[in-house]
Amino acid sequence: MGWEWRQGSSLKYFTIPEWEAYGIQMGFSSRQGGVSDIPYKSLNLGLHVQDKPENVLEDRKLLLSELGAAWSDFALGEQVHGTNVAWVGEENGGRGLCNLDTVVQNIDGLLTQSLTGLMAMFADCVPVYFYHPVIKAVGIAHAGWKGTLGKICIRVLQELFQAGGKIEDCLIALGPSIGPCCYRIDQALAERFKSEFMQNCFLTPLGPGQFSLDLRKANRSLLIKAGVKPDNIWTTLACTACNSEDFFSYRRDGGITGRMAGWIRLL
Ligand SMILES: [Zn+2]
Repeated sequence: MGWEWRQGSSLKYFTIPEWEAYGIQMGFSSRQGGVSDIPYKSLNLGLHVQDKPENVLEDRKLLLSELGAAWSDFALGEQVHGTNVAWVGEENGGRGLCNLDTVVQNIDGLLTQSLTGLMAMFADCVPVYFYHPVIKAVGIAHAGWKGTLGKICIRVLQELFQAGGKIEDCLIALGPSIGPCCYRIDQALAERFKSEFMQNCFLTPLGPGQFSLDLRKANRSLLIKAGVKPDNIWTTLACTACNSEDFFSYRRDGGITGRMAGWIRLL
């Protein structure tokens, strides 16, 4: 059990059946089944990537329909590769869905205890999903190398803790993202990771001044160090750069590409 593909009524997406059994709607979209053209072909859910807005809105409509959701059932953050996180409630439903002006600004992590779903956009960065069954809270964070280095996943954990949730009860899922197979970084960035994390289990030397970075493993090590039980972390080896049929990849596609959505909602 763990992450698996599901063919829905109109779209294919990645999800964890065990989480659904807890009453959580969560998943990660594939690039298939939408209306956008190359290089955003075809289910591009990112409104900020120079795709035609009418196509993105149609793609978002297809996803919401698959999820049985209305436009006002989800909220989106701005995503600036920062470490700010924010709680949202039902008054925030619909923010960022129809246009960029209404996103929750300067935010890369969202939490809620309301029925408003949380959504974020990805094309290589790690989607980190949080579910706290005791305080009935969910969260999602966008962790690229900057967010990982800035430990955004710990910021979300701290919020759950301050809301009365024990860290040991927290469930985490790390979704599809660029894998160590495809994520090459230079010496300078590797050194920053080594000094910030005081370990380097997620770095593999590839040659002079070149390393591969496993962002999922880096986030996993942070979460475990913070008190999350290893058995409470679901992960996947799905690499967004390796699988061009299902995923957009910022690195593979040279920066001009679409976005997949990650979502989580209490039902
Ligand atoms: Zn790969």
